[in-house]
This record gives sequence, structure tokens and C-alpha cells, in this order.
Amino acid sequence: MGLLKIEVDLLIRAKWIFPVNGFADSIQNGEVAIKDGKIKYLGSKMPENWQAKNVVELPNNALLPGFVNSHCHAASTVFRAQSEDGEGGRALYTVAFRGEGLIESDDWAIMAKLGVLEMAKAGITTLNDFWYAPDDMGAAALATGLRMQLATEILDVDKNLIPNGDYTRFSKIGERTLRNGVEAANRWHGRNNGLVTSRLGPHAIDTVSEGLFRECVKEARKNGWGLHTHAAQSRQEVDYIRKKTGVGPVTWLGDLGLLGSDWVLAHLTFADNSDLNAALEHDIGYAHAASIYPRRGTYPDLNGARSKGIRSGMASDWLLNDPFEIMRVMLSATRLAASDYKALSSYEALELATAGAADVIGLGDRIGRLKVGYEADIISVALDRPHMQPFYGTVTSLVWHARASDVTHSWVKGKPVVVDGEVEGINERDALDTFQSRLNHLGEIIRSLGGVTRTDPCPCCT
Ligand SMILES: [Zn+2]
Repeated sequence: MGLLKIEVDLLIRAKWIFPVNGFADSIQNGEVAIKDGKIKYLGSKMPENWQAKNVVELPNNALLPGFVNSHCHAASTVFRAQSEDGEGGRALYTVAFRGEGLIESDDWAIMAKLGVLEMAKAGITTLNDFWYAPDDMGAAALATGLRMQLATEILDVDKNLIPNGDYTRFSKIGERTLRNGVEAANRWHGRNNGLVTSRLGPHAIDTVSEGLFRECVKEARKNGWGLHTHAAQSRQEVDYIRKKTGVGPVTWLGDLGLLGSDWVLAHLTFADNSDLNAALEHDIGYAHAASIYPRRGTYPDLNGARSKGIRSGMASDWLLNDPFEIMRVMLSATRLAASDYKALSSYEALELATAGAADVIGLGDRIGRLKVGYEADIISVALDRPHMQPFYGTVTSLVWHARASDVTHSWVKGKPVVVDGEVEGINERDALDTFQSRLNHLGEIIRSLGGVTRTDPCPCCT
């Protein structure tokens, strides 16, 4: 009598596999077998008595854990090129904050689609998103099968007044945005068999009052949702909180007894040592958006946070959503800040973009590594491209030379999301055409706020 047959749902064979499992190991000519959404086997060859219902052969590709984006605003397309060359705070507070309220829901919907397409194609399999359009993001999660954590912005200031440093509190805005946040969280938590979950998103430490923070924490913990905010992201915020409370923003929230491991804090750009100690003490997850900071002439103390033991991981925040480029910015900036090429290794950058970011959003025991028993969130990167030659099977080659456009496939919990470079469930051509049809309208909004567009004729030619 032969061995009992074991059936798996999917077998992926690839030239290389990089499990990101604690050190820079790799498997050449390896296989990953998946059953019920989980990795059942990972190695050179699955046992003889196992059979796969489906087999995907990728003889010129590397498999990696899917990238995890621990803080992003996928629907932010319209603000691209508005803040990259300007003083960060000004562009953020004047164009983006004021522009948000002028954009209509149909436009958010199309921008959510574009952002999700862009991230999925770049190998991001999990998004911790935070913006105005949770229903559009949720719809995109259902259409594509991506894993998402969703939050809607909650605040009690008028964003039109913030650029002038006017932090007058409006309880009506607070009540409305909290209600919207709670309703959206109720609508989306647990959808798509638990792939979509909710957070509450008090916007930032300067734009939310103590009372509203307390309400958010109470609601989130009552319902089992996480929390997500921007912390120490601008000098204006830190100056305002220091003036009001005498301490930094993270220290302040910690002192109020509100922080905990259910929080994701984005940026910590202007956090001081006391803020970092508070972050560690309360075990928050730190979302580090490497590509945002250097262009504004600054860089948060990533290694300071890591060396303290703060759970840290990659985020894109907005506008630039290529994890490979983000890893390279992270490596270069961290090494430059320390004047030491050993300050961050390629493997550590890859780990921050996968397992580290999964840990930040509370999923570190389920995704972010390729490991038996983990959920099968996997991407495939093409190696048969000129810029990937020669490939000797090292993490260094992948991290320093691969590009978002090299991602050919992705799976979330064993189900395909990207197949041969195309995203399942969203028509890319339709999304691009619809966005183009709205471009003049959106450009008018941006220009009315003093943003930069070039829809006028070139002055040299008129
Ligand atoms: Zn952000």
C-alpha cells in the first residue's frame, strides 16, 4: 500500500526563494506549497506523496514575502508633485489639507483604484490605509483580494485654519468625523473572511483634542479595532504640543494613558528621546516612511527607534509607492546619517519592508515571512531582466537593483492578486481613462490652493 496522498491547493516553483526568516538565507530551485491559504511546505521539493491542484512555474523568478505598507494614503494621487520640491509642512498644510475637502467622492473613488493598482503592482500585499475614502478602499480590497487595514480621518480642528496655526476646536467636526470613523470601521471590520480589518484614525496629535483622543481609544478598544495616527510629523505639531503640554507629542499621549500595542504611529520625524522612550514603553508600532523625509531635508532616527526595541517597519505614506526604491532610500539615508555603511544592511531593509512592517500592524505572527504555518502572502520578482544581471542569489541584488515593475505575481492568503503583472478585479485602462477625464477639474482645485500645475500654455511659447 502506497503512502497516503496529501493534496495542496497550489504549488509555486521558482528559481529562488527568499523566506526573510531571521537571516539572509535563500533556496535555489525551490517550492512553496499552499493549503487553505497557509504555507504548508517550503523547501527544495515537496514530499512525493503530496499533490497540487494547481502548479505555477516561475523558472526565472524569485519569491519573497509580500511587502507590507504599514502607513499609507492610497487615494492621494492628486497631491503628487505638490510637496516634493516644497517645504513639507507648507505643501501639506496648505495644498493637501485644504484640498481634501474640495474633492468629490467620485474622484476619491477613482484615485483609490489608482493607488491600489499602483501598490499591488509594486508587490505590496497588505496596506494599512488612512484617508477619506475607506469605502472605496474597502471596495478595492474586495475586488482585488488585497489585505487591508482601514481607517478614516478623525479630528476636531478646521484644516483651513491650521496653516495659520489656528487650533480652535470644533466639537461638531469632532462628533461628525468620529461618527464617520466608527461607522466605516463597523462596515469594514472582518470583511473578506477577515482580510479587511478596521482601525480608528485620530488624524494627528495636533489636530485632535485630548477629549477626542479619549473617545477614539474607548470606541476602538470596545470594538477590537486598532488605532492609527501621525505623530511628531511636523515641526508645527511638535511646537504646538510642547507649548501646550511642556512635553513632546508621544510623551504626552503616553502620559495620558492612551497608548498601547494596538497603536500605529507614523513618522516620529521630530520625536525626541523622551518620545522614543514613551513609544517603547507603550509598545506602539512605528511606521517609517523613508522616502518622504530626505526630500524635506531631514531623517528620523530609525536606528535609534530600532535599537531601543520599538517595533519598526516600512511605510510609503503617499505618492511614492515602490517598496524597492523606498528600501534604497532607507539604506542610503540611514548610512549617510551615521556616516557608516554598516548602519543598515540590505537584509535589514528587506526585513523592515516585510516582517517588520507586519509586526508594526500586529500581523507579525501571520504574514511578512515565508514560513510553514504562515499565511501565504507571496510575491514573485522577475530576474530575467538586464538590470538584474548577474543574479547570484543574494538579497543585495534584489534590494539594490529590483524595481516595482519587476513584480510579476502576488498572492494573498494563497489567492492570486497580481497575475503576469496585471491586477485582478480592477480594470487598469478604465481607471486611467476615468482619471484623465477628471484631470482638468482636479487641476483647477490644486491651482486654486496655490499648488503647482502646468495646464496653462508655456509662457515662452505665447
Ligand atoms: Zn500619512
